Parts: sequence; structure tokens; C-alpha cells
Amino acid sequence: MSHSAEAKAKYNLNKLQKRLRRFTGQAIADFNMIEEGDRIMVCLSGGKDSYTLLDILQNLQRSAPVNFELFAINLDQKQPGFPEHILPEYLESLGIEYKIVEEDTYSIVKDKIPEGKTTCSLCSRLRRGILYRTAKEMGATKIALGHHRDDMIETMFLNMFYGGKLKGMPAKLLSDDAQHMVIRPLAYCKEKDIVKYAEAKEFPIIPCNLCGSQENLQRKHIKAMLNEWDKTHPGRVETIFTSMQNVVPSHLADPSIFNFAELNKDSQIDEGDIALDKPDVPAVPVGLEIEEQDVNVIQL
Ligand code: SF4
Repeated sequence: MSHSAEAKAKYNLNKLQKRLRRFTGQAIADFNMIEEGDRIMVCLSGGKDSYTLLDILQNLQRSAPVNFELFAINLDQKQPGFPEHILPEYLESLGIEYKIVEEDTYSIVKDKIPEGKTTCSLCSRLRRGILYRTAKEMGATKIALGHHRDDMIETMFLNMFYGGKLKGMPAKLLSDDAQHMVIRPLAYCKEKDIVKYAEAKEFPIIPCNLCGSQENLQRKHIKAMLNEWDKTHPGRVETIFTSMQNVVPSHLADPSIFNFAELNKDSQIDEGDIALDKPDVPAVPVGLEIEEQDVNVIQL
């Protein structure tokens, strides 16, 4: 690569890193994800999202106004062909505290689920139990996962299209037994940016299909739909995410979140009286932003 191409690639990588830092910092602040003295367990799967999460959190840690600790964990589920050396080597090179938890969930899942059936739900239930147990053993105050904005949008459509629920994926979640706080600091980060960042940083990615499970077809369908919209209707996906942050319970149809029964002249209403108006929809999607020249760092 020529000197000027190298300099440009470095500049683009810096811009991309700044954007990921900004969005992550914003989500952390909006949801009060990290507090003084937190000890955060970062779950590393070996995929692009969790590598990016750890990298950006370490980066933010250096300049954050609060003090917090980070340590990484990886669950080795004993899938055939899992390259055991990759994560320890990478984590050693970072000099970060880490733990590799070895649990053969692969055999349990293969044993319990008939051939050809999807194994993901049992597998992820087992994984969740192990992660919670490890968090307790390691004295973690928060558990950080690498899900991003597009995972949240996909999950919302999955729930709407198949589950009949207007429900996404929480940026911050208290476990059912109230023992664990789970945070998703990449909640505002776009998958596109994470893909480019992971390529530019050359994270040693571990393939995610080692278990041989088929990809969930419903999720695949939603992903394809969103990708198509992103190409044909710029700004639409951003606008959908903005709408997830602007919920108007009085203009939906769930009496359990808005008390329609006791609505009276003294009630506070959140969107004014537009009963007889046509919906006031902007001419262009509100999420349409003139994206900074798409950063091209892939050929680093
Ligand atoms: S893809 Fe494989 S490893 Fe991942 S959740 Fe599904 S069964 Fe488990």
C-alpha cells in the first residue's frame, strides 16, 4: 500500500473508532450502564461484535470519568474444531484479566435435541446459566454483551412478525432472579460500522457455525428485508431505531400501558389531539442523515 493510501486508511479507521466510541459512550450514559467501581464481565464469543465491544470499552475506560474494571470471559462449549488457542493468545496480547470456561454444552444439546431440529434455544439457555454462574464466581457487577443496534431492530421485527409483540431487545436488563445486570453498550452502534472496524483491526474471528446448527430462517428473512430497505430507502432503518426511542403509549392499543378506561378531561395526554387529523408524517425519514463519506478501511 502506498504511503498516502496508508495514511488515508489510518484516518478512516480513526474516524470509525471515534464514531463507535461516541455511540457507545452515549448508550452507556443514556441507560446508566456503568457506574463507579463496577467490575464488568465482557462476554467474548470470538465474533466481530464481542471483539469490538471489548476494544471500545477498553478504549473508553482510559478516558472515562468513572473508574471501572473489565475482564473478559469466553465459554468453550466444546464444539468440534473450536480453535482453543485463539482467544487466550489474543487476550494475553491485550494484557487483560480473562477466564476461559470449559463446559461441554455441545454434547448435551446433541444428546437432547433430535437431529435436524434447531439447537439454539437449549444451547443459549445453558450458556446463560453458565455465564450467570461465572459472573457470580468472578465478582462481576455487570455482564456486557456485544449486541448492537441492528440486533435490536431485527429482534423487534421478529417479535412483531412472528410473536405478535411490540418488543425488542433491552439495552439494559435485570435477570429474572434480580442477581445480574446485563448491559449492551453497543446498542446504538450500526452493524455496518462494526463489520468495517473488525476487518480493519484484523480481530482473529472464530467462525460461528462450528456447532453445525442452521441459521434461524425467520431471522435471516428479517435481515434480508432490512438490508433491502437500507439500499432502496436510505434512512428508513435509522428512522425505525429512532421510533424505538420515541414510544407514545396513548397512541398504541395496549390498555395495560395506557389507562384508556379512566381517560377523562383531566388526563395528561402525550401527543395532543390529533384524532381527526391525517397523520403528520415528515416528507423524508427523520433518521436520514447525510452519512459521512462511508469510511473505507477494509483494504488496510
Ligand atoms: S448457533 Fe450453535 S452455538 Fe450458537 S446458539 Fe445456536 S446451537 Fe448454540
